[in-house]
Amino acid sequence: MDIYSKKKRSEIMSKISGKDTKPEVYTRKFLFSKGFRYRVNDKRYQGKPDIVLPKFKTMVFIHGCFWHGHTGCKASELPETRKQFWRKKILDTKSRDKRNIEALKKGGWNIIVIWQCEIKNKTKRQKRLHSLVTEILKNSLSYS
Ligand SMILES: [Zn+2]
Repeated sequence: MDIYSKKKRSEIMSKISGKDTKPEVYTRKFLFSKGFRYRVNDKRYQGKPDIVLPKFKTMVFIHGCFWHGHTGCKASELPETRKQFWRKKILDTKSRDKRNIEALKKGGWNIIVIWQCEIKNKTKRQKRLHSLVTEILKNSLSYS
């Protein structure tokens, strides 16, 4: 049995999987403030990348640690209830992510994955987002 009521559970889940989950918003705002322009949740591409920077041939995925099974991360620990169910679900997501990223790379895109835990608190976030900018600019060198 779920410890939460149906209503509460769907509330929690929608917060987790919602389109504009906070980490994505932070990341976009940060990139925008640095002068980057991008497209969001572009359905034309496999895996609907969270941020697409055409000018830099770069896509950014912001992955929730639980849903995308961040290896070795505390936030990706499976709940005790229905462990097998979650394990399978998350393994499926992981292999789908892998397929998507490989296909996009083949198409000439640079792929950057940001894990939610990397940008959860302010200090970590500042650091990660600055290194993100470096990664994007580094990619651009080969295209400019
Ligand atoms: Zn994580």
